[in-house]
Amino acid sequence: MIVILKQGITPAEKDKVKSFLADKGFIVKEIVGQQDTVLGAVGTVHIDARTVELLPGVSSVVPISKPYKLASRELKKEDTVVSVGKVKIGGNRIVVMAGPCAVESYDQIMSIAESVRESGAVVLRGGAFKPRTSPYSFQGLGEEGLMLLKKAGEAFDMPVTTEVVSPGDVRMMASYIDMFQIGARNMQNFELLKEVGKTGMPVLLKRGLSATIEEWLMAAEYLMASGTDQVVLCERGIRTFEKATRNTLDCSAIPVVQKLSHLPVIGDPSHATGIRDMVAPMSLALIAGGASGIIVEVHDHPEKALSDGPQSLYPSQFSKLMHDIQAMAPVVGKSLERIPRVLPESIRPKEEETASAKGTAIAFQGVRGAFSELAVRRTFDEDVGLMPCHLFSDVFDAVSRGDALYGVVPVENTLGGTIYDTLDLLAMHPEITVVGEQQVRVVHNLIGQKDAEIGDIRKVYSHPQGLAQCREFLSKELPDAETIPFFDTAGAVEHIAELKDRSAAAIAGAPAAIYYGMKVLRQGIETDAANYTRFFIIAREENAEPFRSRAKIDKAAVLFSVSDEPGALLNALKVFSDNGVNMSKLESRPIPGKPWEYLFFAEIGVSDLAGYEALIAAMKEKTASFRSLGLYTTVLK
Ligand code: PEP
Ligand code: MN
Repeated sequence: MIVILKQGITPAEKDKVKSFLADKGFIVKEIVGQQDTVLGAVGTVHIDARTVELLPGVSSVVPISKPYKLASRELKKEDTVVSVGKVKIGGNRIVVMAGPCAVESYDQIMSIAESVRESGAVVLRGGAFKPRTSPYSFQGLGEEGLMLLKKAGEAFDMPVTTEVVSPGDVRMMASYIDMFQIGARNMQNFELLKEVGKTGMPVLLKRGLSATIEEWLMAAEYLMASGTDQVVLCERGIRTFEKATRNTLDCSAIPVVQKLSHLPVIGDPSHATGIRDMVAPMSLALIAGGASGIIVEVHDHPEKALSDGPQSLYPSQFSKLMHDIQAMAPVVGKSLERIPRVLPESIRPKEEETASAKGTAIAFQGVRGAFSELAVRRTFDEDVGLMPCHLFSDVFDAVSRGDALYGVVPVENTLGGTIYDTLDLLAMHPEITVVGEQQVRVVHNLIGQKDAEIGDIRKVYSHPQGLAQCREFLSKELPDAETIPFFDTAGAVEHIAELKDRSAAAIAGAPAAIYYGMKVLRQGIETDAANYTRFFIIAREENAEPFRSRAKIDKAAVLFSVSDEPGALLNALKVFSDNGVNMSKLESRPIPGKPWEYLFFAEIGVSDLAGYEALIAAMKEKTASFRSLGLYTTVLK
């Protein structure tokens, strides 16, 4: 049952409710949600709910209708985010786990770990105990395999996961790995589930070959009832009459599970298809279907692999797949999880005031719920301290003064073009450097009062860009509504929330509707769905490294001016082409106080840092002034 606590319950009252339930024989879990705090009480005992309802501090008691309780969405409304070492799974992230089917040797696991990490995988997989269909097939290296897997994980800074097949191995394995994997064949090995659950460690729970979704969630319930709340579900294909693939990937299981459970769910396209060529398309299908990630088998020499060679990707195929996933991430409103996290836990306070007091907040322009806030959350953690700023220049000032650790500023939009304010502010702040980029797909929504319907709307507030980008919808569906330009999109939602007028609506992103307690009247009303905004992450130089070390640097932004003579710009740009450097963007900006003189802003590809240093030296020779604005990892491929 779910025991919903009153808002004002005292700690002593809460303890009393908990011990009352525990004394009756229930397992009690406290879940702090955005709106309510609830206690989940599960177990084999039955009591009259009214006895609990009468306890001081209890608001109401609701039975859980599903057979799985702790795993059910009824008990916990918010998505669970599972931590595996430094990596988080769930929420707005796409997590890619990769590695060989089985650990075969030191050289094999080291080499595969290096290449998958380089391509962007964040968890290393590799079987040490292999449950093979034939007793004559390779059974895995056992504990030696675990040792090698751990070494590879440490060498390339990735948490590791491997399959456990025997309850007797659980304790021994716990010291080598970061996440247990329960294989499809063991999904209903209840003794194993109980033993693994007792460790409290993260578990990747594969769906059984012929398990229904309910049976799968019941297996998760075993793990949770035994002591872990860190469960990630994995759809890996089920047995059907179809023989063209090894199994049948049940993509629809992803949204079904998300409706029934708060646990993150990922997919395994390797075991689902059993065929290398089908792994990439099915990976993308899983991501499009809403999966929180994938687990993929990769091998340096699949033809020589001791198990599952035919379904293992070559490292180059995996790298291409990562590019495709990266391109798809913003379409589904997510970003690829990277390691290490930017901020150590110790300096990541939740409260906005404490964060800005300690200079650990992330500054962005706009009010809460703005698209920029989405970019912040996608880049940092959900619980990072936020510093909403009125103007772009306030963001730069906050970072410059050290009030904010990082700032997030838009640099261009696919429909609206470059945001020149950002370029000009970069030019004015030599102490600030670009450390990263992020992109957000701009999905506009018509947002109104909780009791409003679309037919009530007479006035629509939004940023002029927001109004322009939804013109088709407005002229078709609300031809008589007055459009009123506003300072920003989320600010328009805040404004209509204050107006409390059923005829007033705003156009903004969905997070703004949630933040200001408004209703989305219509989703996705932008004329052109390919509407993306790209952001720069900015920092003071001393804070650049922790961010930059997250992933391989491959891009730089530079600013330069040239002398007023024929061919000067051409000569400067020739340095790029002579060095085989690709330029992805070039803008010119007027220099304040120097009529008809320009600063050039360019973004260029960087393949190695030594080459970049040499390029800077060459550019300095050919330009009147030159500044490297910063190095970062591209999010657009
Ligand atoms: C594996 O991940 O190597 C494996 C054996 O998977 P499954 O249990 O899904 O067959
Ligand atoms: Mn395998």
